[in-house]
Amino acid sequence: VKAWLLSMLVLPVALGGQLVLKVQVSGRITAVPLERYVAGVVGAESGVFRSGEALKAMAVAARTYGVRMRGRHGAEGFDVCDTTHCQRMDLSSITPRFGAAAAATEGELLWFHGKPAFTPYSRDCGGKTEDAGAVWPELAAPYLKSHADAWSADEPRWRWRGSAEQILQALRQAGLQTPARIEGISILSSTPSGRAATLVLTGRGGASRVSASAFRFAMGRELGWNTIRSDAYAVRPDKGGFAFDGAGSGHGVGLCQLGTERMGVAGKSYREILEFYYPGTTLAQSGEGIPWQRLRGRGITFLTVNHGNDRVAMEAAERLSRALLTRTGWPLPEGLELRIYPDLDAFRNATGEPGWVAARTDGRRIHLSPVEGLRKRGVLESTIAHELLHALMDGQAAPGLPVWFREGLSDVLDKQPVTGVARIPLEADLRQRTDPARARRAYADAAAMVASLVRRYGETAVVGWVRRGVPAEVTYASASQPKPNSK
Ligand SMILES: [Zn+2]
Ligand SMILES: [Zn+2]
Repeated sequence: VKAWLLSMLVLPVALGGQLVLKVQVSGRITAVPLERYVAGVVGAESGVFRSGEALKAMAVAARTYGVRMRGRHGAEGFDVCDTTHCQRMDLSSITPRFGAAAAATEGELLWFHGKPAFTPYSRDCGGKTEDAGAVWPELAAPYLKSHADAWSADEPRWRWRGSAEQILQALRQAGLQTPARIEGISILSSTPSGRAATLVLTGRGGASRVSASAFRFAMGRELGWNTIRSDAYAVRPDKGGFAFDGAGSGHGVGLCQLGTERMGVAGKSYREILEFYYPGTTLAQSGEGIPWQRLRGRGITFLTVNHGNDRVAMEAAERLSRALLTRTGWPLPEGLELRIYPDLDAFRNATGEPGWVAARTDGRRIHLSPVEGLRKRGVLESTIAHELLHALMDGQAAPGLPVWFREGLSDVLDKQPVTGVARIPLEADLRQRTDPARARRAYADAAAMVASLVRRYGETAVVGWVRRGVPAEVTYASASQPKPNSK
């Protein structure tokens, strides 16, 4: 790890297990651990489900939605509310079944391009899901296109009949423009799924246009939510009023709860359900779905989404790997991969590292935070060198080679200025990610310790310890064991 890029401490969403949401629960701000929040949403939103797989699918949708919406109410001092504005959540509804649905999918999110997907859901899409762009133009996504849904197609259609006077009053209550008397209602335009988009109201005093969703919310608020249940309807004049014949319930975007329950009852897994309603997303605990381009270099495979922008890092990596081979005699391990993330969020989501960590190496895979940030701070080359040294060292390391020694030697071989005190830091201080200052001291001490060993024993001897192990006289103070493939 190369650390202390930024002083800010931002927990990545990939640390699902540790995430706590500030939820406004019936008006009071409450800290709710993510998995408890998920169980509370499953209970409130889909308590009637019989299928365990359907509950798990809902748990993943609810978790992803909650994480994606985190901070939505930031200006008011909390993350999400417990109403349909965000998603309904009721801690008192949690039963062992709902807790189990959350636990069975713990930390799992749907990802798209390295970030949590936008995962809306509705009660019943009436046989065809809606395109997100038709409902929230700024949230259109390739995995939220309208598609047929045979699982919910056979549901009986609903009918609502309202008098012209009722409808007029409801529209006025909602502050919507309307003619003085409504004599006609017709659908002016439709969405890609065939739902009403814009209505035109005609009558005495002219005509006015109203969006179908505003019309539906006005009727719902004034006359009850069982009146116009969705925008998938036909409307016709009917004995002095209007009859709406429709299908489904809710906006219809994303997961359809009715179809989900039926898929689960029919034996489909929660993965199949999620793939059906959010096609093209990836189910995982950490960031996935980045549209990587693979470029084979000399000895290193680069993963980038913008090779023009990242070329400087790729060139540096090839140059540094040759220089380090000369210096240490360690060849590049077979299959070494350098992933250059397009933005800090994608880096943090994929690695689980906080924002102040600049890079991370897992065995033969180096994860590098975005090039711009590293360049701006003047640490691009030193970060790449440090991580390359980890990868090179890993191919040579004796079992149990301590973390402090790996970290310190990487900095010393990269000729970083020595700022710490020559002592062996606690491994816990090197590994923790909650206190950047403590980590910075521990890394600096490790580097100073290795620098003092180099002065005493010579660089060749100290480099040789990578293969043979650090002599006992040096490691007496280090009681901890390193975890392989992670530093
Ligand atoms: Zn390191
Ligand atoms: Zn809200």
